[in-house]
Amino acid sequence: MATRAMNPARALSDASPRPYWLDDPARPPACPALVGDDHCDLLVVGGGYSGLWTALLAKERDPGRDVVLIEAQEAGWAASGRNGGFCAASLTHGWANGAARWPAELTALEDLGRRNLDAIGATVARYGIDCDFERTGEIDVATAPHQVHELREAADKAASLGVSGHEFLDRDAVRAEVASPTFLAGLWNRTGVAMVHPARLAWGLKRACLRLGVRIHEHTPGSDLTARRGGVAVRTPYGRVLARRAALATNAFPPLVRRLRSYVAPVYDYALMTEPLTAGQLASVGWRRRQGLSDSANHFHYFRLTADNRVLWGGYDIVYRYGGGVRAEYDHHPATYRRLAGHFFRCFPQLEGVRFTHTWGGAIDTCSRFSAFFGTAQRGRVAYALGYTGLGVGASRFGAEVMLDLLAGRSTERTRLEMVRSKPLPFPPEPVRSLGIGITQWAMTRADENGGRRNLWLRALDRVGLGFDS
Ligand SMILES: Cc1cc2nc3c(=O)[nH]c(=O)nc-3n(C[C@H](O)[C@H](O)[C@H](O)COP(=O)(O)OP(=O)(O)OC[C@H]3O[C@@H](n4cnc5c(N)ncnc54)[C@H](O)[C@@H]3O)c2cc1C
Repeated sequence: MATRAMNPARALSDASPRPYWLDDPARPPACPALVGDDHCDLLVVGGGYSGLWTALLAKERDPGRDVVLIEAQEAGWAASGRNGGFCAASLTHGWANGAARWPAELTALEDLGRRNLDAIGATVARYGIDCDFERTGEIDVATAPHQVHELREAADKAASLGVSGHEFLDRDAVRAEVASPTFLAGLWNRTGVAMVHPARLAWGLKRACLRLGVRIHEHTPGSDLTARRGGVAVRTPYGRVLARRAALATNAFPPLVRRLRSYVAPVYDYALMTEPLTAGQLASVGWRRRQGLSDSANHFHYFRLTADNRVLWGGYDIVYRYGGGVRAEYDHHPATYRRLAGHFFRCFPQLEGVRFTHTWGGAIDTCSRFSAFFGTAQRGRVAYALGYTGLGVGASRFGAEVMLDLLAGRSTERTRLEMVRSKPLPFPPEPVRSLGIGITQWAMTRADENGGRRNLWLRALDRVGLGFDS
């Protein structure tokens, strides 16, 4: 007798609305808030990967440097503790974006990215960070016929540009890796991506910082960044930090340097986590090499296994709210959860009956070139790295190195890059911003439905190097 397909929304009915990764007894206790005035050589504002790497590398470069990190809530609570855990070597939101924007630097950017990912792996090992770091690689899958052609072209282009480690998989080969009736081809980046438990990576970096003597104050939002003799001052609710130098690592949140606000648009990305698959369910999918996967549409999904064989399934919708705020109430979007659940069962019909245990979302600091930008303020005493646009798990360590180079006033292989010296185009103010993002999203959906054909609007944006992505 035929069984009736389950309504995908039912699979969500007892999911807990919080990030799976943060729902973990390994979460460390919060460090006390700052009370009174504190003085230091380097103040780091923000306790995500970006800030934690900056503080850690500052101590590793110069153990005698006095480093203070302030975090508005708790280290790793924001994007760093709730992302997909794809830790990519790419510093440019994929090599194709790098090749389009900085063709002369692509080899250097790819090389720096690989070294950066190696260094993350080495740091995880050196400090014994228990974050399930697995260098599985990632497969981009085609789920529409035009994407097969695009992936084949991408494989050829990668080879011609000397971007190594990318292998085209035809329909049978990709399904032999991961069995889905929707997969038509794949492009496997074999070594350039690791899977991590994102929150445990952040917590491990926090512990390493404390071990090296960084003073961390949580529940300590900074405000009113001002110049003072020989440095800067930042106000906190119960005191101040007076620092010779400061690094701003505040991602999608309002930057303490006001003029940077037009460069970053916070967009929300959402994800689901299933219960652990049984051995039989896992066998029905294959996935023996545990790669991260994403599909190749403009509105794409990303998905992966956890250490205990749950499936994280996220992406597709990119939600921008008028005015671009970051607010707790934006962390949930049931319409997106329903859509994602439906897509999950379409991709893996053999997993019918699997239930979701967690649903959540988080803010991404989208900028118009999809990869971080860098700079200084207050006559070189303040550095910033922002705009990672959904691919900051690995790249934020590179951003930390750049901020430290800039604060030291050093010319390095990093600070000499055009990618580091240039800025993205700013987004226009509201209401034009919302209107522009809305039209772009509509055009991206149309392109996905029309065999990938980009309309006039998208082609015009491509020509001026302005885009919108997650
Ligand atoms: C749902 C989701 C999925 C994602 N998936 C991936 C992925 O698979 N791979 C990938 O590479 N990237 C992914 N990303 C992006 C990635 O998580 C981010 O690029 C990365 O975590 C950025 O780190 P960060 O330290 O800059 O930002 P955050 O982790 O957001 O940290 C910024 C911190 O600054 C603090 N802060 C802000 N303002 C102040 C202030 N005034 N004073 C004190 N503290 C302040 C905040 O409280 C916050 O903790 C994803 C993001 C989301 C939301």
